[in-house]
Amino acid sequence: MYDERSPADVLPVQKVYSPEMPSVTTESVLDRFRRVGALLDGHFRLTSGLHSSGFMQCALVLQHPTDAEACGAEIAAKVRELGPQVVLSPALGGIVIGQEVGRALGVRAMFAERQDGKLMLRRGFSLAPGERVLVVEDVVTTGGSTRETIEVARAAGATVVGAAAIIDRSGGQQSLDVPFHALASVSLPTYQPETCPLCAAGQPVVKPGSRSA
Ligand SMILES: [Zn+2]
Repeated sequence: MYDERSPADVLPVQKVYSPEMPSVTTESVLDRFRRVGALLDGHFRLTSGLHSSGFMQCALVLQHPTDAEACGAEIAAKVRELGPQVVLSPALGGIVIGQEVGRALGVRAMFAERQDGKLMLRRGFSLAPGERVLVVEDVVTTGGSTRETIEVARAAGATVVGAAAIIDRSGGQQSLDVPFHALASVSLPTYQPETCPLCAAGQPVVKPGSRSA
């Protein structure tokens, strides 16, 4: 959806929208990301091959346990009123933050993982019929893996009371059928290399994480 933007529409990474009022929490979350190099401004070649003016990697925040715990507590504060009894996250990206949300809520946290391409509960994890499940992810982009995780819970007979993430990159397009909360909503436009306005402007492209010696 971002691919057709003209150079004039290029949004810097700092461009953060909030569906409601400007949130102190959103800024504090992104400050947390910037502090550990998990949110970079520039011209990046993403793993997908697309180019972007920003790079975000939640794992670089979550590697710091105190930051992970703080993000978990902030999510828990937003979802506590939903009354979740268990947190379910998709592996791998959702595991650490799911654990921290579970800790803050005082409920157990489990994860679903892929076997033969299909997301499922393994390792003896189980959900009771009617158990109130909160699905937790690190980043929601299309909402696809969140939806898939919701279906895992429903297939087990549980009730999904909501979904939450640290970062919402969907631009409000995740179209989940349960209440959804994110700590920050971020617009990071991506471009096909052939039509990348940053390439057109002659800005060198770098791979995130690569370091010059
Ligand atoms: Zn480019």
